[in-house]
Amino acid sequence: KPKVVVAGRSNVGKSTFVRHMTGKNVRMGKRPGVTLKINEYDMGSYILVDMPGFGFMHGVDKKVQEKIKDEIVHYIEGKRDEIATAIQIIDAGSFIEIVERWDKRGEIPIDIEMFDFLNELELNPILVVNKMDKIKKPQWDEHLNKILGTLGYKPPWNQWEFVVPAILKEKEGLDEIKYKIMERVNGFKSQKI
Ligand code: GDP
Repeated sequence: KPKVVVAGRSNVGKSTFVRHMTGKNVRMGKRPGVTLKINEYDMGSYILVDMPGFGFMHGVDKKVQEKIKDEIVHYIEGKRDEIATAIQIIDAGSFIEIVERWDKRGEIPIDIEMFDFLNELELNPILVVNKMDKIKKPQWDEHLNKILGTLGYKPPWNQWEFVVPAILKEKEGLDEIKYKIMERVNGFKSQKI
């Protein structure tokens, strides 16, 4: 079965997403970073692969953070031919601030690095912009344009098929993500035949 990989910095709502998808109570309120474990869930027509959260976490030192990132990259590169697509979740409320902070230090923001990596492997990643409830409705378009801009995509954001604004805690955006997963899983299967 093809794999669908779920990645995201810690605290973006990745467990919330996986819990809604699988009905299983995954690592909510866990101490982040403690486990490097990659969890796989049989979804019927594909395997959902839950990666550990990457990036800054309270009480987890930089070496461990790097190790987690390397682990994710290693897994995806090693299993590239089995992976139909990837889902990267970001936090709409803090994404731009985090990116600007890294930029100022002259480093490549880890979220951007991850998204570029997934694209370089031609995984056609789905970008889930979660926690849109933190953004006032009239500012949604401007905010989404800005996020896409930092990733190198021109406005308007909604010309880019891979973007899904979401409020995962309220299951908003979930159906659209499922639809995009299935498009990619079906495309992957027909490509194999
Ligand atoms: P993970 O660390 O990426 O697995 O994130 P979790 O799923 O554990 O969520 C981290 C925090 O974000 C929790 O307090 C969630 O309740 C919260 N959260 C998840 N989805 C949303 C959302 O759509 N909006 C808001 N405001 N908070 C959310």
